[in-house]
Amino acid sequence: RDEVNIISGALELRKKTVSDVMTKLEDVFMLPISSVLDFETMSEIVKSGYSRIPVYEGTRGNIVTVLFIKDLAFVDPDDNTPLRTLCQYYQNPCNFVFEDVTLDVMFKQFKDGHKGHMAFVHRINNEGEGDPFYETIGLVTLEDVIEEMIQAEIVDE
Ligand code: ADP
Repeated sequence: RDEVNIISGALELRKKTVSDVMTKLEDVFMLPISSVLDFETMSEIVKSGYSRIPVYEGTRGNIVTVLFIKDLAFVDPDDNTPLRTLCQYYQNPCNFVFEDVTLDVMFKQFKDGHKGHMAFVHRINNEGEGDPFYETIGLVTLEDVIEEMIQAEIVDE
């Protein structure tokens, strides 16, 4: 039974795209790069429970880097370190994928280490009068793809 589910899940990966399984931008826990790593901000980060936090400049659609929880290991909340300082030190790259990339392709990219284990989902917006522009609409992680493959929710501890 489990085996049948996993195999049919694996076959379904070709029919689904990253936009079907991503976490929508509005639901993503992220921080403005202007944040200060004081006690309050650091508590919120820890409370969020996520191991990777997108960092944006200006608007939430403009993601410039990613903060890993482990980057906070040597940060003392009493120092009121600007998040920008930490981001400039680590310079963790952001990976992007188009919304219509299918999950089998996404899985292969994650597996081969091309996209880390998290990617931001974007699309080309050519609605309206102005020039087309890239629009970020969410994020997808290896866990989202694996959940689809085994057709079950992974319960995080
Ligand atoms: P983590 O290691 O932080 O638990 P996972 O890669 O295991 O993250 O992903 C678990 C789920 O949380 C996935 O559905 C993923 O899309 C979502 N997710 C990951 N990071 C964030 C974040 N910063 N804000 C909101 N959702 C996130």
